[in-house]
Amino acid sequence: MIWLYAACFGGALLLLLALFAPWGRGSIDIAWFLVAAVLLLFLAGLKARSVILEQAIRLREESRQEERLLDEIESQRREIDALADGFDVALLVCDARANVLYANRTAVEMFGFDEPMGRSILAVSLSHDLERITLRALEKREAATAEVTLGYPQERMVRAKAWPDPIEGRAFLSLYDVTDIRRLERIRQDFVANVSHELRTPLANIRAIAETLLDELKHASKESKQYLEQIIVEVDRLSQLSGDLLVLSAAESGPIRKQGCDLSAVVRGVVNQLRAKAQTKGLKLSFDGPERLPIEANPTQMTQVAINLIDNALNYTNEGEVRAKVSQNGDDAVFEVADTGIGIASEHLPRIFERFYRVDKGRSRATGGTGLGLSIVRNIVEVHGGTVSVQSTLGKGTTFKVTQPIGEIAEEKTSIDESVGS
Ligand code: ADP
Repeated sequence: MIWLYAACFGGALLLLLALFAPWGRGSIDIAWFLVAAVLLLFLAGLKARSVILEQAIRLREESRQEERLLDEIESQRREIDALADGFDVALLVCDARANVLYANRTAVEMFGFDEPMGRSILAVSLSHDLERITLRALEKREAATAEVTLGYPQERMVRAKAWPDPIEGRAFLSLYDVTDIRRLERIRQDFVANVSHELRTPLANIRAIAETLLDELKHASKESKQYLEQIIVEVDRLSQLSGDLLVLSAAESGPIRKQGCDLSAVVRGVVNQLRAKAQTKGLKLSFDGPERLPIEANPTQMTQVAINLIDNALNYTNEGEVRAKVSQNGDDAVFEVADTGIGIASEHLPRIFERFYRVDKGRSRATGGTGLGLSIVRNIVEVHGGTVSVQSTLGKGTTFKVTQPIGEIAEEKTSIDESVGS
């Protein structure tokens, strides 16, 4: 390139000298200057031509490369589209204002919206919950999940997750259709609840008949009486089991009816109710907590939680004490039950909230346990948006801790009698 400029400049200079230099005008020198200038300019022209040709070739090559790159991008995009369209999960990308930038085929079908691109997620899904988790991923830059009900084009339950794009101000959304799973769960819950309910009457009848026979068969053998007593014990166990199954399916079936519930009054009431049992076993049973701690919850279910935990503590403690404590920690109400009982070995701790899981089946049966108490606790606590945890040392004792959001409390005092009776 420098040669081209030099040749142009030299040629132009020689031409000027040839035309205007005073010392050479009209002499032979002018002819030489002119020849040299023309030669230089000719060379410059040649060089310019080759430079232009080179540039044109380079540009053409670049544009070919660009085309190849675009083709590659397009084919990759088609591949990704085909892949994403094959998923049974709806996938969406939203921009910083929660407008849809991309939606796979499942998403288009799920929302019944042919052209969702450029529309807001609220307009496309008609779901405020979905908009809320998308905005949360965009604004707070954190993943959010929710189980969302979509009403159009048909009612569906979906498990939705929104998470932020790490680089740009965008959010990704995935929606998994759980309508069928929830329907099957509902059928299972209804089945269990119906069977449990239907069992109650025949069980009550069998018990009544066995009791009558026991009263009437005064001269029967000792063995026959023992058989009848055994029938009554087993019927009681079955009744307890069907009762627990009913409570569990009610806890699972949510949503729950929350109302003003004084947690202190609920736990204090259960402690009073179980004081006689503690005394029979020679255990100290105490309550510690504020006069009132109103939370937004279902009082019947909270009472069930307190009964199950305190009753368990009494069942699995041979000597010492059981302490029930209620306190407030920020926006949460905390309910703890600590005992000085047999404790639970660490390998059992992860499983004790499972249905029918018992560390010692014999002891559980002897105390009238069904193995459902802690799963009822966990279900109730979780549908209330809370958590339950356990700490235990074998041979020393166990502490169960329930943390429950206080919620927008209604200033209504609920007594244990009301809640048990309701
Ligand atoms: P169960 O009807 O057998 O008491 P739960 O679901 O209430 O069933 O409890 C599950 C198992 O957890 C019990 O069988 C028992 O082994 C253990 N467990 C529960 N609470 C305690 C406790 N306070 N101390 C020791 N073990 C406990």
